[in-house]
Amino acid sequence: MFRGANIFLFILLPNTFLQKMRLSDYIRDIENFPKPGILFKDITPLLGDASAFAKATSEILALIGDQKIDKVVGVESRGFFFGGIIAEKLDAGFVPVRKSGKLPYKTVHETYALEYGTDTLEIHEDAISPGDKVLLHDDVLATGGTAAAVVKLIERCGGEVVQCNFLIELLFLNGRKNLKNHNIAAVITY
Ligand code: AMP
Repeated sequence: MFRGANIFLFILLPNTFLQKMRLSDYIRDIENFPKPGILFKDITPLLGDASAFAKATSEILALIGDQKIDKVVGVESRGFFFGGIIAEKLDAGFVPVRKSGKLPYKTVHETYALEYGTDTLEIHEDAISPGDKVLLHDDVLATGGTAAAVVKLIERCGGEVVQCNFLIELLFLNGRKNLKNHNIAAVITY
């Protein structure tokens, strides 16, 4: 009888634990990184915990539901952690968007404004086929400048952005204003 009860608990407890686990407990706030005044959302504790990583993956997938996705575009570099995994689960290809000069083949590039100065992102010109249904994934939606630039790259390659998908959205920065007419979804909001 006791052995039966133990097996019951063994099966039940991990599921109950996963349901109750709060992913936000695995996000560490780092003040003044990388610059004074920025509160950096450090996701490495979440990545380093097998259960939190698994729960985050399944919650990111739940945001997508049963939408058909041909390509997942992950944004350098923290968009790569989950981007490849969700692409594999969705039976889609994975496409990296990288900072200027990192991709080896012919690229399409987009320069966008930062608080101070500009930055450039690139995608391989043949990474997306016209008509592809594309999921954009990054770790954090802040002001939305990065994601807006990636949307432009995807659309210039002929892709259709089905969802802009994030692990974290910083609501107070209203990044959505830069992604008008797009479906935006995030697992954790602040
Ligand atoms: P933004 O273009 O302002 O939406 O910034 C988004 C990009 O910058 C993402 O690739 C994030 O990895 C990074 N980022 C911006 N703000 C933060 C933050 N507070 N914590 C962690 N990453 C951030």
